Amino acid sequence: MGAISRAEVGEHTFLHADMETMPREQLAQLQVQRLRATVTNAYEHVPFVKQRLQAAGVKPADIRSLADLQLLPFTKKTDLRDNYPFGLFARKPAELARLHASSGTTGKPTVVGYTLEDIGTWSDLMARSMYCAGARRGDIVHNAYGYGLFTGGLGAHYGAERLGAVVVPMSGGSTERQVTLIMDFQARVLCATPSYALAIAELADQQGVDLRKSNLQIGLFGAEPWSGAMRKEIEDRIGLKAVDIYGLSEIMGPGVACECDAQAGLHGWEDHFLFEVIDPESGKVLPEGEAGELVITTLTKQALPMLRYRTRDITRITTAPCDCGRTHARILRITGRNDDMLIIRGVNVYPSQVEAVLIGRPHIAPHYQLVVEREGSLDNVRVEVEALPGTPADQFAAIGRDVKHHIKSLVGITTDVKVQAPGTVPRSQGKAVRVRDLRPKEV
Ligand SMILES: [Zn+2]
Repeated sequence: MGAISRAEVGEHTFLHADMETMPREQLAQLQVQRLRATVTNAYEHVPFVKQRLQAAGVKPADIRSLADLQLLPFTKKTDLRDNYPFGLFARKPAELARLHASSGTTGKPTVVGYTLEDIGTWSDLMARSMYCAGARRGDIVHNAYGYGLFTGGLGAHYGAERLGAVVVPMSGGSTERQVTLIMDFQARVLCATPSYALAIAELADQQGVDLRKSNLQIGLFGAEPWSGAMRKEIEDRIGLKAVDIYGLSEIMGPGVACECDAQAGLHGWEDHFLFEVIDPESGKVLPEGEAGELVITTLTKQALPMLRYRTRDITRITTAPCDCGRTHARILRITGRNDDMLIIRGVNVYPSQVEAVLIGRPHIAPHYQLVVEREGSLDNVRVEVEALPGTPADQFAAIGRDVKHHIKSLVGITTDVKVQAPGTVPRSQGKAVRVRDLRPKEV
């Protein structure tokens, strides 16, 4: 990696044309080679993986085709926690260039490590993603992803630098200053979580600043599931093209997959990752196009090779050709995380489904939380949502009944809807908290 080639196919351009437009048969050959090398790396350097593969009766030499991927056992988030902090690393700590960690809601954080070459690959893929979304050399990139142990900030930062863009390393928070610097520096690209992008837009409104008149043209939004309705809301309010980007620290960080200008699914970078969709119950691999849990295997990671990692993200994959000319499969927009899925009186619900109903409804602002409580033996969901500024408080109840009716008919669940005054739902400065689960924890 490292060498950047720009080639044109029709009117489309690519940052790494050889890889991004590689015929799928050729791509598969590259993947098999890289898969065998990855399994070898894990087998030889990670005792936990070696034991697992031995127990499954698999040796690296058994990997001869992509179908052999299914010989490998899954890796789960609990495996990372159980081997805290460095037990799954294939390199000694002294050989690493960086550590990141995600805070767990329970117990120990998930720790991930990178060699210098891993950081280089990540930077390349993040630059490729940004280019795919429309960012170019020389653009000013306003990076409002949090810097620190979270991979969002530094991931976008290194990618923008690799692209040759100019990074404003803003991080999350100081929202007033975000607005000022976006306007003063004339950023063309905004990187943020979708919920934080909306919080920035809201503050701009309050300051009398019209972001639609700013120089912003492209938003790279990710790190949380968001609905198509949310995309439209952000595009209308900020006046930019809102592009979905995907990643997770266990696999690399942001830049595992990104939308092109077709906005029709996220190209997963298959020269570095293998993507599968499985039935989360049975673990069986599903045919292309069926919805299930996304499973990712890394193909080039040195420090933390990951074999069949269960992401808990629910989605579908297509290898159908894309208008942009890229041959890499597309991950359709993530519906939600398995962890966030609520089962309300037998109906499976993701917060993004409720979001899709809320956003754009009259008098309703795009800020919400779902509160889940146990009433007797039944689970009850209260949707806390805000009225738009200027809405008379004596109309809140009627608006709530209207929203409740639409959630029932479109999502199929009965909820309590509480319409609140503007500004009362907590704003995120990073990943939004969409669900407050107040049910007693089962032991
Ligand atoms: Zn495309």
